[in-house]
Amino acid sequence: MTTPTVTKTPIHKASINPLQIPKSAKLAVAYFFFMIVPFVMAQLLGMEIEGLYTRLLSAVNLVAMSAFFLQFPLAGRIKPLPLFANIDWGITKHKQFGQYLGVFFFLHPILILLPKAMMSFDDFSVSFVSAITSQHLLTGMLAWLAMAVWVLMSVLKDKLNITYETWRLLHVIGFSIIATLATLHITTVGSHGQYNQQFNVIWWLLYTVCMTLIVYNYVIKPRFIKQHPYAISHVEKINECDWQINIAPTTSNALAYQPGQFVWLNTTGNPYSVEQHPFSIVQGAEQGQLGFIIRALGDYTSSLEQLTVGQTVFVDGPYGSLTLDQSQLASGITLIAGGAGIAPMLSLLRQLEAQQDPRPIRLLYANRNQARMVYVDELVELEKSMSNFKVKLICEQLNVHDESLPRHLVPGLINQTLINTTMTTGKESQWSFYICGPKGMISATTTHLHQLGITQPQIHFEQLAF
Ligand SMILES: Cc1cc2nc3c(=O)[nH]c(=O)nc-3n(C[C@H](O)[C@H](O)[C@H](O)COP(=O)(O)OP(=O)(O)OC[C@H]3O[C@@H](n4cnc5c(N)ncnc54)[C@H](O)[C@@H]3O)c2cc1C
Repeated sequence: MTTPTVTKTPIHKASINPLQIPKSAKLAVAYFFFMIVPFVMAQLLGMEIEGLYTRLLSAVNLVAMSAFFLQFPLAGRIKPLPLFANIDWGITKHKQFGQYLGVFFFLHPILILLPKAMMSFDDFSVSFVSAITSQHLLTGMLAWLAMAVWVLMSVLKDKLNITYETWRLLHVIGFSIIATLATLHITTVGSHGQYNQQFNVIWWLLYTVCMTLIVYNYVIKPRFIKQHPYAISHVEKINECDWQINIAPTTSNALAYQPGQFVWLNTTGNPYSVEQHPFSIVQGAEQGQLGFIIRALGDYTSSLEQLTVGQTVFVDGPYGSLTLDQSQLASGITLIAGGAGIAPMLSLLRQLEAQQDPRPIRLLYANRNQARMVYVDELVELEKSMSNFKVKLICEQLNVHDESLPRHLVPGLINQTLINTTMTTGKESQWSFYICGPKGMISATTTHLHQLGITQPQIHFEQLAF
């Protein structure tokens, strides 16, 4: 059995540079340049379009279409390419961009017909009827209709009565079909495509890259993953709703990860299955193991009792950027966990202890009640073994009249006053904040932090749902 390679982060004692450009800003700039490539190519190829409105609309269409293709790598789990390696950020942006693009593509035919409508109703109705009856526009019409339905399905994902896995499969198949129809449309009908076959090469190239990415993720990558199976070494229900699962590699391959990262865990026995769930890695109790603390929330996580020791499982990862790399220059660190969000925090704390980090480290760990807290003994012990660590356990439901309550327990919810007690007054701008938990808790905590004057580059978070 091998020891998983835990990559350690060096500590640099320096203050945060307020002029430092955040990674996300650099990524946004890189994506912007990617999106304007077809527009720039159209200019270089000297493709002339008559009229200011048409020229403007064509430029926006080109940028929107490249942004559409960008959605595939953004959500595509491609670690080796730095531009797409930050999967949390990528998926967040994928969700935002996807909605904007949905609105834009919905407006696309309206914007094309708008000048006719402004000139005369007769002109507009002739153009409208010829558009919807034209064989030539069939691919565009189908793409437009499918896009409207699939974007709505994404926005309403949590309200649809289907499992996440079914939704994800439909999402990938649906958008692959939309990409095919849209590429056919722009290369045969689009104002650029029909005039310049050279230019069409760009769209077919982007289309091919996106489809290859899907084949890679669903066919090729699982073949590699299959060659490095893991086996479950420990399954235990540790409280009323949380499980501790440990897995160990069955080959000599060690997973190199940084504490705070996560993997997609597939316990179906089939490496090609789409049933795989993201869980943060917590160092296993024994050498060679990867551990997970899993809260029973939905259909999969409520059936963990079916897992058996020795069962083969597969791991895709590691992913994620909730690591200590983000706080190398911070003078202090506050970790804020809600429910299952304790998993990456425990991992970070174990690393901070292992490297005897001298900085002030604080943990606010919130749960509905005391019975839902995990690893409390270890957290309290860390206060003794680490040079400057303090933990507060925050419970929504707590009998405040119980005098035997340990001093770490605080009733209520995470609020500004509690967060304020974690940092050194006057040094707030040099502190780093890590948040992990459900969506509502992340946005409430981020608002508290902003109100305390903490800036976005100081905040690192992971939302426990994609
Ligand atoms: C980066 C990350 C790290 C996580 N780490 C932990 C952890 O350490 N411990 C823990 O208990 N939970 C963790 N989660 C949450 C965990 O992945 C979900 O609770 C679990 O997948 C829910 O599956 P379900 O079938 O039980 O519930 P469902 O009711 O099917 O899903 C609930 C929600 O979880 C999300 N989800 C479900 N399946 C997937 C999937 N395959 N991929 C992505 N999102 C999905 C969806 O938003 C869905 O709406 C993490 C989530 C993310 C995104």
